[in-house]
Amino acid sequence: MALLEVTDLVTRFRTDDGIVQAVSGVSFSLDRGQTLGVVGESGSGKSVTFLTVMGLVDPRHADVTGSVRFDGNELLGASFSTLRKIRGQRIGMIFQDPMTSLNPVKRIGWQLEEAVLIHNDVSRSEARRRSLEVLDEVEIPRADARIDDYPHQFSGGMRQRVMIAMALINQPDLLIADEPTTALDVTTQAQILRLMKKLQDEHGTAIVMITHDLGVVAELADDAAVMYGGRIVEEAKVQDLFAQPEMPYTWGLLGSLPRADITAARLEQIPGQPPSLLRPPNGCAFNPRCAYAFDRCRAELPELRPSPTSGEHRFRCHLDDADRLRIWTAKKAELTSTEGTAA
Ligand code: SF4
Repeated sequence: MALLEVTDLVTRFRTDDGIVQAVSGVSFSLDRGQTLGVVGESGSGKSVTFLTVMGLVDPRHADVTGSVRFDGNELLGASFSTLRKIRGQRIGMIFQDPMTSLNPVKRIGWQLEEAVLIHNDVSRSEARRRSLEVLDEVEIPRADARIDDYPHQFSGGMRQRVMIAMALINQPDLLIADEPTTALDVTTQAQILRLMKKLQDEHGTAIVMITHDLGVVAELADDAAVMYGGRIVEEAKVQDLFAQPEMPYTWGLLGSLPRADITAARLEQIPGQPPSLLRPPNGCAFNPRCAYAFDRCRAELPELRPSPTSGEHRFRCHLDDADRLRIWTAKKAELTSTEGTAA
């Protein structure tokens, strides 16, 4: 049984301007110890999908349908107390801004201890011992001397480590990380990703990594889901996605990625803006930005269908197999060519 099984998830927000269709029929599953990278631009629906999974969208403004099963239990429609217990204990969360999770006026040791005490019947001294242990695990230097510091006394990277400590302190089965390294410099970003991988290896935690950066997915994930316009538009094992991406939006994301095997001779930006989720385009949501769009793309939503090379690799695109192979082969050659190196 999968640890997390999401089926046909739909999230609609009721706004003064109309219905915003933020998530449209998203399905995926995640096993214990695995990492799923969810990638897409802002407004692709990736963060809202996981806020919905966690029961964190406000039902006064949102309609949610579908199913979210965590370790066999349905979370959609579960009581507030059930969700609160699961969120703190079995599912940890990390956000881009550590101050979303840390209280600026409380010492970090106190905050970590509280996170233990809420979910476990242990003494304050035991919670303190566990807090020190987890600060050591996330490699805060001299943790015993820093445990009574306030969040503002830590650098950005160290604050992110404290937030990871907070998310992991109750040894959750699943960690949901939403752009956890976006605000950090490249070196600190690499350190945090390495740390997450190490902790995953030690504890067998499953991870959902939400990011706009395919480089982060390549670094950490086993499986990848590319989101666009509130839908999964491509999903595959990470190595398959990088070896043979099947649709133009993923080609665009790969084109904007510096990689060791693609020499970054020419980094491309995807032209245009993500679609309005209030008034999405007809047919394929990517059609206004797609260089390969034809009439069918503007009339008919492409189904998620298997790639010719692997049944686990699925994508949405009306282009036929021969055209996609021809275009990607030419595009890959263009991306790896040194002739286009900017002066
Ligand atoms: Fe482009 Fe059409 Fe494929 Fe959409 S379906 S990605 S518009 S070619």
